[in-house]
Amino acid sequence: MDFRPSPEQERLRSELREFLASDPAPQGRAFSEDGWIAGFDRDFSRRLGERGWIGLTWPARYGGGERSYLDRLIVTEELLRAGAPVAAHWFGDRQIGPALLAHGTDEQREELLPRIVRADVCFCVGMSEPGAGSDLAGLSTRAVADGDDFVVSGQKIWTSFASDAEFCYLVARTDPEAAPHRGISEILVPMDAPGITVSPIPDMVGESHFGEVFFDEVRVPRRWLIGTLDRGFYQIMQQLDYERSGIERLISNWPLWRDAVALARETGATADPVLRQEIAGIETALHAGRGMIYRVAGILSEGRMPSHEAAVAKVFCTSLEQRIAGLIARIVGPASQLALGSERAPLGGRAARALLYAPAYTIQGGTNEILRNIISQRGLGLPAS
Ligand SMILES: Cc1cc2nc3c(=O)[nH]c(=O)nc-3n(C[C@H](O)[C@H](O)[C@H](O)COP(=O)(O)OP(=O)(O)OC[C@H]3O[C@@H](n4cnc5c(N)ncnc54)[C@H](O)[C@@H]3O)c2cc1C
Repeated sequence: MDFRPSPEQERLRSELREFLASDPAPQGRAFSEDGWIAGFDRDFSRRLGERGWIGLTWPARYGGGERSYLDRLIVTEELLRAGAPVAAHWFGDRQIGPALLAHGTDEQREELLPRIVRADVCFCVGMSEPGAGSDLAGLSTRAVADGDDFVVSGQKIWTSFASDAEFCYLVARTDPEAAPHRGISEILVPMDAPGITVSPIPDMVGESHFGEVFFDEVRVPRRWLIGTLDRGFYQIMQQLDYERSGIERLISNWPLWRDAVALARETGATADPVLRQEIAGIETALHAGRGMIYRVAGILSEGRMPSHEAAVAKVFCTSLEQRIAGLIARIVGPASQLALGSERAPLGGRAARALLYAPAYTIQGGTNEILRNIISQRGLGLPAS
């Protein structure tokens, strides 16, 4: 695989850098980390949409750029490196759009893809339930066909952006008699439909980008069914590969890492040879992780689906993100316990935020244990336990 950027890709990267240096949104955040999940700014997303940087790989008839996944990776990498607030369009651009292109109806594509490109619509993803996370096939939210509608009842949890989204990309049971991984369908549920209640959940950092969503006999027109009735589980498996394999799994903390290394240099902490070795070790691993993510984008650009490759990249990169948060705390020292915004905290208390947020990296989008199962079965051909 040839990763050398073409002159056009170099130009794309420079355009992004120029834009990000002049746009007020990246600098306007209280912290620069986790912009894809903790930075929600519709106006900024709209400005990106105007430049053609959302839906970059999609067909032009839907407003897309018809460019490669490697080009898209360049865009996402530059945005996250700059700490840009990209959450408002992230799910739509990363997974809902590709899912509609793969399985949606013409009507759904025509209605929603141009809106995603303009950042005029935001999605949440309703998969996890209190009794079904890793074991998604165990979900119990029901969608019962009734005339031209489905009637949805049940509960989702950990639903990111549930309070902001116009649509929930819901995974629900449509055939309770079938085997668990059959009889599941994907349905887009308008979040303003009567019968939906959202209850935000604060995380350890004190932010609450996710929440519980309760569906009480919510009527959803059947035209919002995505793909084939009762075959949603297989469609989702594909969608999860898109979700797992992006650069957001590696550089969520990159702005803080850069500032922490500069701090170590300033304070003389790098005189400690062990710390120096560890910093260099992280830098090496960052290069390796980046190579894995570029490889996944290369596979997508060739029209193939990365499954175990996406899992390998996510396990390696998110474990590295946790190591980075730990080393940042060591560089900052005991003051790394001071909360975000504390006057006396070095780096504005971002080290404490990074430490508290870090456990989520290896849970969201599939836990390391589940991903290792995928690697062993689909990648190495080992038998299922
Ligand atoms: C920040 C964040 C954002 C999230 N956003 C969303 C969202 O937008 N939408 C959404 O639907 N969900 C979301 N989630 C939920 C996430 O997908 C689930 O937390 C995750 O899939 C794990 O499910 P669970 O929490 O039910 O844990 P469980 O599945 O109960 O797992 C508990 C533990 O058991 C282990 N385990 C389970 N099964 C096996 C097995 N077969 N083999 C080995 N070990 C196993 C797991 O690895 C884990 O360590 C989010 C989570 C986080 C942290």
